[in-house]
Amino acid sequence: MLRRYVPLIRRRAIKRTLMARRLRARVPDSVLAALTARSGGVCEMQLVGCQGQATDPCHRIKRGIGGRHGAAKRLSDRLSNLVHGCRMCHDWCHARPAEAYDFGLMLREWQDPAVEPVLRRGQWVLLDDDGGWEVLA
Ligand SMILES: [Zn+2]
Repeated sequence: MLRRYVPLIRRRAIKRTLMARRLRARVPDSVLAALTARSGGVCEMQLVGCQGQATDPCHRIKRGIGGRHGAAKRLSDRLSNLVHGCRMCHDWCHARPAEAYDFGLMLREWQDPAVEPVLRRGQWVLLDDDGGWEVLA
């Protein structure tokens, strides 16, 4: 007779998928604090379906190539390269990259985030690396 010793009940929640974890950035606490100070905890994208509360540090130039360690990571984690978004807006960017590039929310690797305008809360701005921004006319 076949006996089952391991219950089929899952006692712990299923872990988030690799993809979902990849979308979440791991930035240093000091960077996250400065980003939160800039955003006030409110999503900086405010796209269709925005949830309001900023939860995700979103990299404009994705971290994929050479952006994970040392100097490359510091460059990647500078404030001009980050937008504080809610999960919905973050997902929106990844689902619609063409539009995200048009809005400056995503950039190509050769671009400099400090001189590329970004649509922040419906306003075109330049982000700096000190937590400030300049509104473009
Ligand atoms: Zn949002």
